[in-house]
Amino acid sequence: MRSNLTREELLIVLIEECGEVIQAATKCLRFGFGHEEPGYGINHVQLAKELGDILGVADGLADQFFSMRDIDAMMKNRAGKLAKVEQMNSTVQERNRVALRG
Ligand SMILES: [Mg+2]
Repeated sequence: MRSNLTREELLIVLIEECGEVIQAATKCLRFGFGHEEPGYGINHVQLAKELGDILGVADGLADQFFSMRDIDAMMKNRAGKLAKVEQMNSTVQERNRVALRG
């Protein structure tokens, strides 16, 4: 998506959108994914909207400074990191279970 914003302006919008994702994710954790707040909407829908906003800004940055192929490669790399986090979490949970048994 072609943007006429400068690099600095795009980064400001990106920072704002990251804050909105944090807020939406926090609402999901505090009140539940399916909770609906008048004037705000359903939490998981808002989270998806904010994530979409970030992708839109990333697309604007990509248009000027890097390629969406770069982002795609990093997303694939991130999927591998998430699998490692999942493995670490199950290891920690098992250690905690063993420790609680004494
Ligand atoms: Mg937003």
